[in-house]
Amino acid sequence: MHELSIALRIVEIAERESVRHGGGAVRAVHLKLGPLAGVVKEALESSYELASGTSVVAGSRLVIEEVPIVAFCPHCQAQRTLSSMQWFCCPECNTPTAEIVHGRELEVVALELE
Ligand SMILES: [Zn+2]
Repeated sequence: MHELSIALRIVEIAERESVRHGGGAVRAVHLKLGPLAGVVKEALESSYELASGTSVVAGSRLVIEEVPIVAFCPHCQAQRTLSSMQWFCCPECNTPTAEIVHGRELEVVALELE
């Protein structure tokens, strides 16, 4: 399962960070997730529980911050938040745009340690 391997990677990152900060238990992992990352949020959450197992990460929360899709519109010369991931057009002027600025994020942004 795709999400499980991602969850395992997140656990790995959290464990490494915990060791760097004295090896305390991890309370929460904050993750930024874009709609274009190709990850199902709910599947990732349940995989995370599985992946954290008996490590220092066990029992911690995975806090997922969903980021919107933001593209650069060549016509407006501005960044626009897209309302749909099926429709890559500027919401202001309808110009098609493929210049994605945000939306592919899949990154650990913060950890809460004991
Ligand atoms: Zn535009």
